[in-house]
Amino acid sequence: MVLATAGLGCADILARNGVQAVVYDKYPQIGGLLTYGIPSFKLDKDVMATRRSVLEGMGIQFKMGVTVGKDVSFQSLLDEYDSVFLGMGTYTAMKAKLPNEDAQGVIQALPYLIGNTHHLMGTQDDSTPYLSLEGKNVVVLGGGDTAMDCVRTAVRQGAKSVTCAYRRDEANMPGSRREVQNAREEGVNFLFNRQPVAIKAENGVVVGIECVETQMGEADTSGRQRAEVIAGSEQVLETDALIIAFGFQASPAPWFSDFGIETNEWDLVKATKVDDNPFQTTNPKVFAGGDMVRGSDLVVTAIAEGRDAAMGILNYLD
Ligand SMILES: Cc1cc2nc3c(=O)[nH]c(=O)nc-3n(C[C@H](O)[C@H](O)[C@H](O)COP(=O)(O)OP(=O)(O)OC[C@H]3O[C@@H](n4cnc5c(N)ncnc54)[C@H](O)[C@@H]3O)c2cc1C
Repeated sequence: MVLATAGLGCADILARNGVQAVVYDKYPQIGGLLTYGIPSFKLDKDVMATRRSVLEGMGIQFKMGVTVGKDVSFQSLLDEYDSVFLGMGTYTAMKAKLPNEDAQGVIQALPYLIGNTHHLMGTQDDSTPYLSLEGKNVVVLGGGDTAMDCVRTAVRQGAKSVTCAYRRDEANMPGSRREVQNAREEGVNFLFNRQPVAIKAENGVVVGIECVETQMGEADTSGRQRAEVIAGSEQVLETDALIIAFGFQASPAPWFSDFGIETNEWDLVKATKVDDNPFQTTNPKVFAGGDMVRGSDLVVTAIAEGRDAAMGILNYLD
C-alpha cells in the first residue's frame, strides 16, 4: 500500500489489525505536507521523526524516495500487494491568470515552502529549490492558511517588508484567525479588499502588483461574500518578490486511467464514502483518501479518511 498523510492513518489501522503495511513516498521523510508543506514554526519536524519510529515499531515498512509510476510501476504494486491505498494529495497550484505571471520574482507558494523546509532539514530537491527572500519587499496574494505560512516564512527569512493582499475583507478570509493574528504580531501588513489585476514587470523582473479595491457584496456558493470591484480604484503595490498563494487543484497521475481508477469533473479520484468498503475507488483493489479525493482540506480529515479506508481494506481482504 502507498503514501502519506492520509496513508499514515491508513497504515496505522492496518498494522493494528495484523496487516503488513508498506508505505511508499517520493519524499525522503514521511508525512507529506505535514512535513514538507506546513512550516516548522507551526509543526516541529521532530514530531514526525518520533511518529516514524512509533510506526516502524508497529511493523510498518517505509520505502522513501520512491516515486510510484517512475521508480516503481503501479502494476508491480498491484501484483505484489493484496490491496493498495492512494493518498497522493493535490499539488496543482492555482494560477493567478494575470499578465507577467512568469516574470522573475513571481513565486508559487508551495514550492517556496517546500524548498524552505528542505533547506531547514539539510536536504534538497531540484524541483523545489531554496529561495531566500532576505532583504526583499514581499507581497503575498491570497488569504488562506498557505498565504499565512508564506508571510510568516518570509518574515523568518529576513524580508525587509511583508504585505498580504487579499480580495475580500478580514471577516471573509478563509485562513485561521489565529494565523492572521500571529502574522500581524510578527509585523506582516494586511491589505484587505485588494484584488490583483496585473503583475508589473521591467525587463522580465517583477516590480509591482496592480490591484483594484473591492467592496463586499452578496454571498457566493461558498457562503462567503463576493468581492465587487470599485471602479477607478487601481493602485500599484511595489514589490520585488510576489508570492501567489491561491490554493491547489487535483493532480491525478497519468496512469490512473490505465488501471480503471476514475476521476470526477474536478479531477478528484472517485471513491465510495458510505458502504461496506469506504474509500474504495472504481478499481476494487484500490482505495484512496485525503486531498486527492475531497480536494485540498485538513490534516485531520486526511488522517480520518485514511483510517476509514483501512477499515474498507480490511473488509475487502476478509
Ligand atoms: C502550506 C500548507 C499549509 C497547511 N496547513 C495546514 C494546517 O495548518 N492544518 C491543517 O489541518 N492542514 C493544513 N494543510 C492541509 C494539509 O496539509 C493537507 O490537507 C493534508 O496534508 C493532506 O494529506 P494527504 O495525505 O491527502 O496529502 P499529502 O499530505 O499531500 O501527502 C501526499 C503524499 O503523496 C506523495 N506522493 C504523491 N505522488 C506520489 C508518487 N507518484 N509516488 C510517491 N509518492 C507520491 C507525496 O510525496 C506526499 O508525501 C496545509 C496545506 C498546505 C499546502
